[in-house]
Amino acid sequence: MAATSFIGPIPNPKTNGVVFSPRKPFLCSSAVNSRLFGYKFLGKSLSGSTQRSRSEPVHVSGLNPITASHSFDVVVIGAGIIGLTIVRQFLLGSDLSVALVDAAVPCFGATGAGQGYIWLVHKTPGSEKWELAARSLKLWEMLAESIQLEGMNPLEILGWKKTGSLLIGRTPKESDMLKRRVEQLSEAGLRAEFLSSYDLLSEEPALMVGKEGGAAFLPDDCQLDARRTVAFIEKANRNFSSEGRYAEFYNEPATCLLRSGSSGEVQAVQTSKNTLYGKKAIVIAAGCWTGSLMHDLIRDSDIDLAVPVKPRKGHLLVLENFNSLKLNHGLMEAGYVDHQDASLHSSVSTSGPVHTQTSSISMTATMDLSGNLVLGSSRQFVGFSTEIEDSIINRIWDRAGEFFPTLRELSLRDFSKDKEVRVGLRPYMPDGKPVIGPVPGLSNVFLAAGHEGEGLSLAMGTAEMVVDMVLGNPRKVDCAPFALQGRCCQ
Ligand SMILES: Cc1cc2nc3c(=O)[nH]c(=O)nc-3n(C[C@H](O)[C@H](O)[C@H](O)COP(=O)(O)OP(=O)(O)OC[C@H]3O[C@@H](n4cnc5c(N)ncnc54)[C@H](O)[C@@H]3O)c2cc1C
Repeated sequence: MAATSFIGPIPNPKTNGVVFSPRKPFLCSSAVNSRLFGYKFLGKSLSGSTQRSRSEPVHVSGLNPITASHSFDVVVIGAGIIGLTIVRQFLLGSDLSVALVDAAVPCFGATGAGQGYIWLVHKTPGSEKWELAARSLKLWEMLAESIQLEGMNPLEILGWKKTGSLLIGRTPKESDMLKRRVEQLSEAGLRAEFLSSYDLLSEEPALMVGKEGGAAFLPDDCQLDARRTVAFIEKANRNFSSEGRYAEFYNEPATCLLRSGSSGEVQAVQTSKNTLYGKKAIVIAAGCWTGSLMHDLIRDSDIDLAVPVKPRKGHLLVLENFNSLKLNHGLMEAGYVDHQDASLHSSVSTSGPVHTQTSSISMTATMDLSGNLVLGSSRQFVGFSTEIEDSIINRIWDRAGEFFPTLRELSLRDFSKDKEVRVGLRPYMPDGKPVIGPVPGLSNVFLAAGHEGEGLSLAMGTAEMVVDMVLGNPRKVDCAPFALQGRCCQ
């Protein structure tokens, strides 16, 4: 796929005569966006070939699109939970104006499929992510409390429930591992308990783990409903529109970064319809698309970096108004931790890396606010496809049946009318940590991506970290482990 570049000055009516002439132009990300969002950038490539729009035309005049220009302090690319919470933090924690850009709409990405666990039970105290996870949980709790203080019910607004978490083992080896985990969590100051299979009978009567089994239990772990939470944050952010501090540009993919010829700083984000100037910062929070987006944005520039975020597909099965069993907590099998940490196996062929299409299923189960049974989840490296795979859904159902004998007596076919399948692409980083921080060589461009299966739980801490970086505030959490420099690439 050929790309289009901006060469020559781009007038900006809002910057009073600052001539904007990128001498080292950035190529527009036509390839990634056409592949992912079903449109093609309409324009002439440098070699002169013309591409046609499939669904959403982008108007061009010669090499430059005819677009409107808008000026903000900060432009955030990506309106998943990470982008939305970053916007929220800027709006509440500063007086800066913010534009939020999305190629689609907020729940289009992984966020719309998230199960909603805001958990510490499967995280390891002292690990590089621990501080961020603990801080983030605290910030979510503070949000829930503030909603309560305003006379609203966080359960209704966010689907917020302190259900506690159960990390479940069925073998002596897993039980030993869980006992050690409970010790670690207790030493870190958390209320944590190991529940034997006998104890579990009263906590979760529907669950069967065998007499060697048991669970690590954190009564203070919480869950939320991702879609309700997104709706709440979006609405709260929109309250700032009237004072001119916030604007949304949805269904408008970012296609290009525009850089000043004199300072070399990135000054604006080109979308399919608008040029959005970000005077102070540009934040890229495009989930699993961040790696390919960055790659396209800096292609042919003098900047040499790779953001190795990859899509990791996940299915979630939602059975509506489920009455055949009740759950009191959020549940997850111990094997989930290994599946989450498992790396993308790759080998190298003459035409480049070949990724093995591994798939894994680990049981997660919870009841949501509406009485739906939510069962997860799968992990697959199959590129950017979000197609529903019945074979994966059947495996999720069968796996759940190994823990809940009642389900084995039911057939999934009987739920065809009361079943929803959610598919999302988790933003996977090979070393298991998100990337949060400035892009080397582009000091005013920040990345916040790669949260894999933890983006909901880590969102509030990530947002605080990004905003503190941009504003130069003291950090609440050490951000060094999340810097892009020195991270593995594959
Ligand atoms: C089945 C499943 C269950 C999960 N359960 C949990 C859980 O229980 N707890 C938890 O913490 N996490 C969970 N997760 C993980 C969590 O959902 C993700 O980590 C999180 O949603 C990532 O958020 P994000 O904002 O980075 O990405 P996304 O939500 O994917 O958002 C990225 C956005 O960027 C936009 N975008 C892409 N390219 C462009 C472009 N060129 N221009 C403009 N916009 C662009 C996309 O349209 C999208 O809206 C789960 C994920 C899955 C799939």
